[in-house]
Amino acid sequence: MSTITTHRTPRIAGLPADRVVVAGEPGWDDARRAFNVLVDQRPDAIVRAADEHDVVATVRHAREHGLRVAPQSTGHNAGPLGALDGTILLDVSGLDEIAIDAEARRVRVGAGVRWEQVVPALSELGLAALHGSSPDVGIAGYSLGGGMGWLARRHGLQTNSVTAFELVTADGHLVRTDALHEPDLFWALRGGGGNFGVVTAIEFEVYPYAEVYAGACFFAYERTREILHAWRELLPTLPDELMSWAAILHFPPDPALPEALRGRSYTVVWGVFAGDEAEGRRLMAPIRELGPAIDTFAMVAPAELGDLAMDPREPLPFRSAHQLLHDVGPQGIDALVDAAGPGSGATVSMVQLRHLGGALARHDIGAGARATLPGEICLFALGVAPDAETAQAVEATLARIEDAVIAHRAGDYPNFVEEPADASAFFDPPTWRRLREIKALYDPGDLFAANHPIPPAGT
Ligand SMILES: Cc1cc2nc3c(=O)[nH]c(=O)nc-3n(C[C@H](O)[C@H](O)[C@H](O)COP(=O)(O)OP(=O)(O)OC[C@H]3O[C@@H](n4cnc5c(N)ncnc54)[C@H](O)[C@@H]3O)c2cc1C
Repeated sequence: MSTITTHRTPRIAGLPADRVVVAGEPGWDDARRAFNVLVDQRPDAIVRAADEHDVVATVRHAREHGLRVAPQSTGHNAGPLGALDGTILLDVSGLDEIAIDAEARRVRVGAGVRWEQVVPALSELGLAALHGSSPDVGIAGYSLGGGMGWLARRHGLQTNSVTAFELVTADGHLVRTDALHEPDLFWALRGGGGNFGVVTAIEFEVYPYAEVYAGACFFAYERTREILHAWRELLPTLPDELMSWAAILHFPPDPALPEALRGRSYTVVWGVFAGDEAEGRRLMAPIRELGPAIDTFAMVAPAELGDLAMDPREPLPFRSAHQLLHDVGPQGIDALVDAAGPGSGATVSMVQLRHLGGALARHDIGAGARATLPGEICLFALGVAPDAETAQAVEATLARIEDAVIAHRAGDYPNFVEEPADASAFFDPPTWRRLREIKALYDPGDLFAANHPIPPAGT
């Protein structure tokens, strides 16, 4: 039976009262806000852990009182969590330790650390991490689900670069797992997400890059069809060292944006080449020679990749859609532009395509549950939905976009799935079976509520 059902701060043995907040108390709305502000998180209580002892105390309390625990580091993927009745939301953003061993090219971070807190420091040391498009995404959720960024065709998913996790398991003990210690748990965490415990620290490998050749070409929105065809034709010519993304972007009329972007729409092609300038220029020439309105390609320090995609930094209300796709062919590009390009009446802020393949398609020995991603292209579309009417228009556009490419569907990338979903669809049957068996071993009572739940085997 739950003991946290009143609007009074519950006492959790070993935890100072000011680390717990419940509905009706000052700070409740701030504490429960997710990155997508449309997500209405209503757990029984929120614990803001300051260290791993707080995590242990919370897990033990939940277990003793028949509650569940939902670990959260930033709330960037809170949408799929669903109802949090009978659940303590365990906010680990206070676990903010950072240690960089430049010589060993290893980083250790607390589970609350966001990419923006380590990427600039690494860059100054001539090192790059496998972060994604948004500097304020948490390293924990990103790494537990996969983690696909600018260097992914060269170095694969971030989860493959994780060398150790520390976590509090359902029995309330702090455990360290790596390739040699509790290797099944280590395998499951690398892709199986927050189903197996509350991660308190993560260690991972980073890569030596003083500079990379990177940038974006912004083309007039009216040229979307021509540019996306050219981008698709470029992809087969690219080596693993080059990752290119393309997007239709509608910038808001935000005074904080540079004038050239503010309130304007563009089709953008990015490239990040882990190599020298001459070769990077040669590889991106088919796009750069199309006469972009803005061209930012140059040799840059890895820190510049943090914000290259210009993702939103502040929490906002949005709906999104996502699919992994095989090569969509010229017809697929046409269908996508019909659904979301000029003249379509589309109500979205972004339709983004990322080139997959390379290391993303290679399963290394010793990899975890999420070693690779299927397909050639990752589609992610997002529309800002400040009110119900706009939300309806956004949803209609997202449905049209999904329909336009459905024939080329290769699967889903769980980190980009923002709605409750059947996680069995994210894995092949043997991987799913093994994940469920490991869940049954480490969390037989299903204490942990993850964004993409894996039920224990036998339930
Ligand atoms: C603007 C934006 C840009 C993005 N860009 C990329 C990108 O380029 N590449 C990419 O791969 N993904 C990207 N993502 C997706 C992102 O990787 C997922 O949303 C990821 O789950 C976020 O992790 P988090 O810790 O920040 O979020 P949270 O919502 O805090 O965590 C998500 C889930 O991870 C688990 N989790 C988090 N912390 C812990 C913990 N300490 N212990 C156990 N489980 C935990 C939980 O199950 C939790 O529900 C982006 C998302 C957004 C919103």
